[in-house]
Amino acid sequence: MKTILRKVAPDVRYDGLRQMLLDKKRDVQKQIDGLIIQRRQDQEQWREEPAMDDQDMASRDSSADQLLSLLDVWHRMRISLDEALTRLRDGTYGFCKDCGEPISKARLNALPFAKTCIDCQNVIEGLENVARG
Ligand SMILES: [Zn+2]
Repeated sequence: MKTILRKVAPDVRYDGLRQMLLDKKRDVQKQIDGLIIQRRQDQEQWREEPAMDDQDMASRDSSADQLLSLLDVWHRMRISLDEALTRLRDGTYGFCKDCGEPISKARLNALPFAKTCIDCQNVIEGLENVARG
């Protein structure tokens, strides 16, 4: 980690972004809460109304699976938001976690949760391609 990080003043550049992340996190939490409530309601309803047949059972299974994978997506989103907020607080947001160089504005605009610069990302993807053969 280079000393360049410490030279950057705790930044007003990212105030808008912080607010955006906090708003987004509230939305995500609302989605998660909603899904958890829905899951509980589904389970109660299904307990009271036993499945009619295999097909009914299968459709319940698939809607439960769907709900769980949605929940997983939102949960990951919340983790990314938390990480970005932590990096903002530490003053490491916007710097590559591998080489410590600033990540370009264009990249951050496209990918607000990017943790690496485009060069390091390319190296990582190159290694993954090699690993995959
Ligand atoms: Zn880098």
